[in-house]
Amino acid sequence: MKRRNFLKNASLTGVGLAVGTTLVACAETTSEEKKSVDTSATNNNTKASLPLVIATWHVMDATAKAMEVLQAGGNALDAVEQGCMVEEANEKGQSVGKGGLPDRDGNVTLDACIMDKHGNCGSVVYLQNITHAVSVARKVMEDTPHVMLAGEGAKQFAISEGFQPEDLLTDASKEAWEKWKVEAKYKPIINIENHDTIGMLAIDKNGDISGACTTSGLAYKMGGRVGDSPIIGSGLFVDNEIGACVATGLGEEVVKTVGSFLVVELMRQGKSPQEACEEAISRIVNKPNSNFKDFQVGYIAVNKNGETGSYAIHQWFSMTKFQDGVNEQIQSDFFNKA
Ligand code: ASP
Repeated sequence: MKRRNFLKNASLTGVGLAVGTTLVACAETTSEEKKSVDTSATNNNTKASLPLVIATWHVMDATAKAMEVLQAGGNALDAVEQGCMVEEANEKGQSVGKGGLPDRDGNVTLDACIMDKHGNCGSVVYLQNITHAVSVARKVMEDTPHVMLAGEGAKQFAISEGFQPEDLLTDASKEAWEKWKVEAKYKPIINIENHDTIGMLAIDKNGDISGACTTSGLAYKMGGRVGDSPIIGSGLFVDNEIGACVATGLGEEVVKTVGSFLVVELMRQGKSPQEACEEAISRIVNKPNSNFKDFQVGYIAVNKNGETGSYAIHQWFSMTKFQDGVNEQIQSDFFNKA
């Protein structure tokens, strides 16, 4: 993922990416990627031409892949799977797939899920040694009578489906883990890449919606820890009549509010995707004794009309959106402006 570079460069160049229309002027951003960062764009719902793809964070290669699938006449399900696979294979991204940061014992464990226009879904939990967790989740959906497979069973199923086992702990992630072990302090860090999920939602030319998400979860988590990302309704939810939502951030907080299902249900009640994401974040931050200052959660959503929204607790969450030939990063509005 390029998000960390994006943040680093923004601070180096002194560019304050304030809410409002601001040109992203970071050194490593190519001219093609220089786009207006306008949080009102999340609510600019006048153009809703199809197909369209949105994803959490700054993942333009992934959205480009998904759009390529859609433009070639592929369906939304193929698009979100192939889009997520781009980041799973990217060893430089340390929060997804190969190269993901390990748990505190040095094991890279992946969570992923996928959901189609019929409401079918599949997920894998605590999957080890298989890069493309999202594709295994799709196989669970399509080739088994189950929704969720975990751990060794998920791995053995993947192997039986032809996936090749491999070591997912890259030298860079091993080195980071070894440095972490010196102090061994466990703390999710807001907007620093010791966690992050790629979540992707697409609407194809037929107007059908699918979604997927994939993650290595929180870096240095307890062995066996599972986040929101493979939990249907928390990390992801799709209702082809209404819309879809996917989450990133501290999974425990998303699970406690069944966040993605909540966003879709709020859209069903008439809220726009933007309003629904904002309400779902307010359910987290307005809990009595919420320690929201210490963690990040972000949602992106799309409705059946192709209107989109994104919202987070803290600044620097962003959504990548590919529509009408434009692949752009949209800085998300956020709750904590104090
Ligand atoms: N939601 C993921 C988890 O809790 C991590 C993230 O998206 O930051 O495992």
